Amino acid sequence: MLRTSSEILRPIREKVEAGERLSFDDGLTLYSDAAPLPEVGELANLVRERKNGDAGYYNINTHLNPTNVCVYRCTFCAFRADLRSAKGYLMDEEQVRARGQEAVDNGCTELHIVGGLHHQAKYEWYRGVISTLHESFPELHLKAWTPVEIDWFSRQTQKPIRWVLEDMIDAGVGSLPGGGAEIFHPEVRNKICEHKADSTRWFETHRNAHQLGLRSNCTMLYGHIEQAYHRIDHLIRLRDLQDETGGFQTFIPLAFHPDNTGLSHIKKPNALMDLRTMAVSRLMLDNIAHMKAYWIMLGIGTAQCALAYGADDIDGTVRHELIYHDAGAETPEILSVEQIRQLIEEAGREPVERDTLYHRVEREGNAWRTGEAIAAAK
Ligand code: SF4
Repeated sequence: MLRTSSEILRPIREKVEAGERLSFDDGLTLYSDAAPLPEVGELANLVRERKNGDAGYYNINTHLNPTNVCVYRCTFCAFRADLRSAKGYLMDEEQVRARGQEAVDNGCTELHIVGGLHHQAKYEWYRGVISTLHESFPELHLKAWTPVEIDWFSRQTQKPIRWVLEDMIDAGVGSLPGGGAEIFHPEVRNKICEHKADSTRWFETHRNAHQLGLRSNCTMLYGHIEQAYHRIDHLIRLRDLQDETGGFQTFIPLAFHPDNTGLSHIKKPNALMDLRTMAVSRLMLDNIAHMKAYWIMLGIGTAQCALAYGADDIDGTVRHELIYHDAGAETPEILSVEQIRQLIEEAGREPVERDTLYHRVEREGNAWRTGEAIAAAK
């Protein structure tokens, strides 16, 4: 039972306590200034503890962005490079394999792989990134390619999305990351990333992935030109697909970072907005087990607070993060296991190492094995 409730939140509190689904209008209320943030957080924490108890999940992972060259020009992106720019790169097989070796040498369970859509790299090159890593390091879980990339591969090969997914699974992809979602509503999407895969293709990719047995994550990029109703629309679209397939594991709200982007005149969202978005997401997405406070984007202090505002996961140790550091993120590029466990403990939660598919990890130094599956309460 919660302690108190303001008048505006009372009907929502009653629904949350009864485990009932929140409506679009409830979502707008949660985002309104009249809804006190501490109470919204308290409601989200109730759901968080109902689903995940006191656990604060993390993993040991490494990022790989095999190229930053991209045919698209999303206005919020500081990572991309033009084909002939000095900043542009395209990794060769040796560099890709070296990144896998570095991951294994550091006890990682996962490689997170996303990048640009290179003007000249063929589908076979992208597939080769996966098959090279999978053949050399079969113990590493490859969480690879957003729907933006899968859609691009579909265009390159002139094959359906499902074929591309099946072929990538055959090469070694183990799950899909949540990127490329940005904001689904066309009023926003058509302004910030008009050329890349639209919401229909994004959902087609995840629906097919789930039907093929892949688990995936999902995201929302907030704090730029969107308004609250765009965010609630976004969350409900994700909730609807989850009702259909049950394939999403984790939702990650991504705070916009403006430096070096086409939207550099916009101030990045503050910690209050970060915490409210985490809490509202936890409350609206009643059918997704985990909420991730991505410390790279939020900053360590806000990520710690988010563990009391709905989040139960803090992502990983992370190496070689480029996408948000190019956009001005001031966080470190890596945390040690000791640091990540300590920041979870400081937030009053119990650190639990997980693998990509939410199994407990049993570890001795860099040697590890997969333990039992983590079951989230409904
Ligand atoms: S967000 Fe992705 S698709 Fe858009 S410009 Fe950046 S790298 Fe390219």
